[in-house]
Amino acid sequence: MDINLSKDDRAFQSEVRAFLDEKLSDDIREGSRLTPGVRTNAVIARRWAGILAEKGWLCHNWPSEFGGPGWNTLQKYIFEFECAMAGTPTINNMGIRMVGPVVMKYGTEEQKATVLPSILADEFAWCQGYSEPGSGSDLASLQTRAVPDGDDYIINGSKIWTTGAHTADKIFCLVRTSTEGKKQEGISFLLFDMDLPGIKVEPVIMFSGEHELNQVFFDDVRVPQANRVGPENKGWTVAKYLLEFERGGIAYTPPVKAGLEKLRQIAEAESGGGGALIDDPSFRRDLAKLETEITANEISEKRVMSALSLGQNPGAASSMFKLRGSELLQRMLEMTMKAIGYYGAPYQPDAYIPGNNVDPIAPDYGVTASAKYFNQRAATIYAGSSEVQRNIIAKHVLGL
Ligand SMILES: Cc1cc2nc3c(=O)[nH]c(=O)nc-3n(C[C@H](O)[C@H](O)[C@H](O)COP(=O)(O)OP(=O)(O)OC[C@H]3O[C@@H](n4cnc5c(N)ncnc54)[C@H](O)[C@@H]3O)c2cc1C
Repeated sequence: MDINLSKDDRAFQSEVRAFLDEKLSDDIREGSRLTPGVRTNAVIARRWAGILAEKGWLCHNWPSEFGGPGWNTLQKYIFEFECAMAGTPTINNMGIRMVGPVVMKYGTEEQKATVLPSILADEFAWCQGYSEPGSGSDLASLQTRAVPDGDDYIINGSKIWTTGAHTADKIFCLVRTSTEGKKQEGISFLLFDMDLPGIKVEPVIMFSGEHELNQVFFDDVRVPQANRVGPENKGWTVAKYLLEFERGGIAYTPPVKAGLEKLRQIAEAESGGGGALIDDPSFRRDLAKLETEITANEISEKRVMSALSLGQNPGAASSMFKLRGSELLQRMLEMTMKAIGYYGAPYQPDAYIPGNNVDPIAPDYGVTASAKYFNQRAATIYAGSSEVQRNIIAKHVLGL
């Protein structure tokens, strides 16, 4: 694989850069800079999503037959890389990255005609109802029941760790429709509104202080059977397909590289070992080691991505991306915490609100550093823990 950009790729890169230069206004950049967790302030993020939707780039990973730009793998990578380097907001992309590909493959014609255009226009915020209090890694043991009643299902049970459920309009949800046979064979995949009678959302506050997570309770919630994606009791196949897109099909390296660039700037500004931290031999050694590993990961990521033809699903390789990407992200944030030193100690959550009038104790680059560090301790747990990814790699990639 040639990892140098061709003339056409460079022209595409310039087009993306020009768009970002023009559309990333100062207040959007500021909202993005102040992101403490996995998502930027919802108002700013929705504004940015609206700008992307207007340009036709919101669903940048979708094929053109479903309204996406139809970019090849390298173009998608360039777009994600340029967005990360420019510091674009992190938006709720559960509709784009997860629901969209699933509906394209398993949805009815009616679902394709209604759900896909609504995602392209960023009409609704989605959340993911997979995990339950007793079912995380062993997801197939899930207990939330959906019992047929006329044309509907009646749903009872609970989901937990549901990111963004408190601001979501819709949920994609795994439910048990049969208790016969193997546990994987009694699961169905449903899409429904979050404001239906019988749904209650309770916050789960993270130890970094943010409210991103929730527990969702279903008490006799009535959902039309027409909202099921795929056949009844075959939801496990749909669910696994979605997980490939949750864990892979995106590049993990661009945000880590953008963070590394910021880390270098911090190390130039902060002192250490009698001079600038960047000149401290021990820090330089750690930085060089991290950069080498990030570059190696970037090359494997590009290599695997270039092998994926348009529309092909990422398969078990997505577990490698997820595993290495989340570990490198954590190492980068750990070094950032070391670099900012005592600026990591103040807890000023009001300083994360775009347009706030708080006088931050830390310099600009340190305001959200510790919040990000603590928040992303979860990166090796969410979307499937590292241990589970290693099991998948051992079995499906290495054939052990
Ligand atoms: C910040 C965050 C956001 C999340 N967002 C969502 C969301 O939006 N929607 C959603 O549905 N879920 C979400 N999750 C849930 C997430 O998918 C689960 O936490 C994850 O799958 C692990 O499940 P668990 O928490 O039940 O841990 P458990 O499955 O109980 O695992 C506990 C420990 O045992 C290890 N372990 C388990 N099984 C094995 C095995 N077979 N081999 C080796 N080790 C094993 C795990 O690696 C882990 O260290 C989120 C989680 C977090 C932390």
